[in-house]
Amino acid sequence: MRSSLACFLILPLLALARGDEPAQPTPKRFAIVIHGGAGTDPAKMTKAEVAAVEASLKKALDIGVEELDKGGTSLDAVEKVIRFLEDDPLFNAGKGAVFNAEGKHELDASIMDGRTKACGAVASARTVKNPISLARLVMTKTKHVLLVADGAEKFAGEMKVDRVDQQYYFTQKAYDEWQKKRTERTSSKSAEAPKGTVGCAALDSHGNLAAGTSTGGLTNKKAGRVGDSPIIGAGTYADNATCAVSCTGTGEEYIRHAVAYDISARLAYKGDSLKDAVHAILTTRLKKGDGGIIAVDRLGNITMQNNTTGLSRAAADSSGYKEVKLGNEK
Ligand code: ASP
Repeated sequence: MRSSLACFLILPLLALARGDEPAQPTPKRFAIVIHGGAGTDPAKMTKAEVAAVEASLKKALDIGVEELDKGGTSLDAVEKVIRFLEDDPLFNAGKGAVFNAEGKHELDASIMDGRTKACGAVASARTVKNPISLARLVMTKTKHVLLVADGAEKFAGEMKVDRVDQQYYFTQKAYDEWQKKRTERTSSKSAEAPKGTVGCAALDSHGNLAAGTSTGGLTNKKAGRVGDSPIIGAGTYADNATCAVSCTGTGEEYIRHAVAYDISARLAYKGDSLKDAVHAILTTRLKKGDGGIIAVDRLGNITMQNNTTGLSRAAADSSGYKEVKLGNEK
């Protein structure tokens, strides 16, 4: 009896002394994380505006949790959450998308399945109500990854997805921001982080990861400009072996540094924790003010980080943890 107790106590110490890996924490049955853009500064918002964004993120989170808790897939959770946020004019995705330099709306989205590395994306879509769903159809119904502009529009017709006219995307807020940006001298170099892009990353109870991102891009962007959101490896990435990631911020920087893929690679090749990998990117690759990143790893660990004035975000997992936040950690 005494000797078996000694073994129980001593063996783990010997293992540690040999440098063995400590036991992994218990994986979560499911986990989900959402963002609504990295430019939010609650100090510059009214109480009512803060409450509205928080309420919407909470609803989106509930939609995702319900899907995952009943055993649904991470892909379905990601698509449902993003569709909900695309339909909410508070965000720069779907209805509420920003204006480009020609006063038009061009929408980008992508989705990725960490189980198979299947992925789909659309860029510069102009009449698609829910670009995330069209991105998923690119993934499942074509042998391609990315369809753009007229090609994306034609595919939307073939798939018979919901269509809208450009007027549908209009919001006074996005219009006012466009007017402000157009008259700013430093328009294209503005240090203010873009706002309102949406994204989601999830782990389901089958052990599968998925991620997706949807945006109207940057206010006053050139017609035809495409950011990181529809670029697999830049704004979105998922791999069951590592993690699922969705980014938000100045897209050019995220493309330049292949941010979403780099996070996965740091886990795979360097053995970084998810939190450390995201922190390293935000502090050593990206510049202050560039944006934010949300991610979940294969064990259900969640991270939400940014180097801006704030990140609208929400997260939950199967342990009962749930939070919705704007701004920065105090
Ligand atoms: N990353 C998006 C883009 O550059 C914008 C954003 O995240 O707010 O198009």
